[in-house]
Amino acid sequence: MRKLGMIGGMSWVSTAMYYEQINKGVIRRKGPLASPPLLIESLDFAKFSHLQTIGDWDAVAEVLTDSAKRLEDAGAEGLILCSNTAHKLYDQVADAVGIEVLHIADVTAAKMVRDGVKRTGLIGTRHTMAEPFLRERVEAHGISVSVPDPGTAKEIDRIIFEELVRGHVSRVSGRTLKTCLTVMGQARQQAVILGCTELVLLVDPVANVLPVYDTTALHAQAAVEWIITEPAAKADEAKVEVQEAEHA
Ligand code: GLU
Repeated sequence: MRKLGMIGGMSWVSTAMYYEQINKGVIRRKGPLASPPLLIESLDFAKFSHLQTIGDWDAVAEVLTDSAKRLEDAGAEGLILCSNTAHKLYDQVADAVGIEVLHIADVTAAKMVRDGVKRTGLIGTRHTMAEPFLRERVEAHGISVSVPDPGTAKEIDRIIFEELVRGHVSRVSGRTLKTCLTVMGQARQQAVILGCTELVLLVDPVANVLPVYDTTALHAQAAVEWIITEPAAKADEAKVEVQEAEHA
């Protein structure tokens, strides 16, 4: 199995979901006692989210690229950023290391393309909804993306930072999100992307008014596939070693 580095703590609540889902996914594919080789750097979310709030994106990029380099130096062969918002700095992180970084929007869009989705709503933090970094990456797969009206977007951002990243789940907020999804359905969106890794705490991906694409689960599944897939060159080397051993 390949060793995956995870930049987490954005927030710990969703990093815990990633950890559980990646472990369970590897068990499903490799057997009950298998467990994936993982390195996790859990950032201090108080400091990290403060930098986002004040808009010091250079400092955010530095935190993420330093973390990525430490994980690479420690032996990670690939990386994930366990937050949609952090993907604003995806290019800087990917450029700072020599290993693959699995993009959360690519794995989500790939599933939507397989399911034939052409129009989708997107909810997430204010950065993810208002800025192009995630939307355009999904749109590059031929899917049009729309976000809620500014009032609803503001309330969703508040719910994320005042409730979900602290592990609080409230019924009132659950209703707010249900109303938002209903409005998206009325606007003929075929699906909704949960573009924040904590939103699944409030939105049931199975029983909902619209098909729900949970980025945490899709990113974790992609991580599992990546972990259990030996790269071609490595697999060939292993084959040669076996053949040599057989002929020795
Ligand atoms: N986990 C979040 C996301 O997926 C939000 C927290 C953050 O700002 O990193 O965007």
